[in-house]
Amino acid sequence: MNKFLRALTVLIIFFAANAPAHAADLDKAYKKQILKDAGLPAADLKALTPVVGPAELAKIIKKYDESAANYTVDKEGVLKANLHLHTIYSDGTLNVEQVLNQALNESFARRPVIIAFTDHNNIGQDKEIIDILIKDPEKYKSLKIILGIEIYTLGTNFKNTHTPVDIHMLAWVINPYDKVLEEAFTVAQKDPNNPNNWQYRTFEDAIKLINNQQYGFIGIAHPMRELEKSMAPENFNDFIAEEFALYSTLSKKDVKFAEVYYKPGRLYDEHNAFHKFINEIAVKNNITRTGSYDTHGLSIFAP
Ligand SMILES: [Zn+2]
Ligand SMILES: [Zn+2]
Repeated sequence: MNKFLRALTVLIIFFAANAPAHAADLDKAYKKQILKDAGLPAADLKALTPVVGPAELAKIIKKYDESAANYTVDKEGVLKANLHLHTIYSDGTLNVEQVLNQALNESFARRPVIIAFTDHNNIGQDKEIIDILIKDPEKYKSLKIILGIEIYTLGTNFKNTHTPVDIHMLAWVINPYDKVLEEAFTVAQKDPNNPNNWQYRTFEDAIKLINNQQYGFIGIAHPMRELEKSMAPENFNDFIAEEFALYSTLSKKDVKFAEVYYKPGRLYDEHNAFHKFINEIAVKNNITRTGSYDTHGLSIFAP
């Protein structure tokens, strides 16, 4: 009997340890970790209800993958999601509270507006969001907020470019109180000799940084930008194919994404040959297509 009980216990422990973590548990664990690292009481968990966790984010972007329309203001003037916006923590115009209030005006419990804060090389905006939510847990509960960052990187290993390419990466569902991220994004950004100056670090570095984080997904921002800024059109498709394949190989996260639907209705055009190609390459590499307005101005419904 003793032997039997022991075997049974081992079996129970085995199944408990290997049971797939429930999505809600994963999101809860993410928020608990933020509170812990911020030195805040676990009792504040409820205040973080609007914060989107990794499981919820994966669900949202997979659902929105198939169409640019999911990232566009529709005929009724409704916007579902803007997953890339800047505040005064980088080169945006609005402060964090103004962004939240604009989203709140458009949001209601059954159709919350989903917004991602993605200031350049900064996580201060994400910390301020936590402060605001804890001070007033009721006010923003109908929103869905993604804590994020946009990271400047250099692509130095691509065949069809003779100079390093500026590549911007977006990271979502990060923990802004994580010590490694704090170290990486709160030091002086202007010194080229500073190893933490992300303006001078590589595409591979940024992917590795987020790979090593317990929480957070990294993806490619506005893939068309290279063509507009610096690249000869005849090199562009080869560059995209190489960039997406390399990213897909290097990212160890189960969610991979690229802003294929960038500025939908203004820039993204499904009939444009370059956009068509980016679409194909994303699908081929198992990369979820996302979109945004990359807001810098006075409205979260516009660039
Ligand atoms: Zn950018
Ligand atoms: Zn941006």
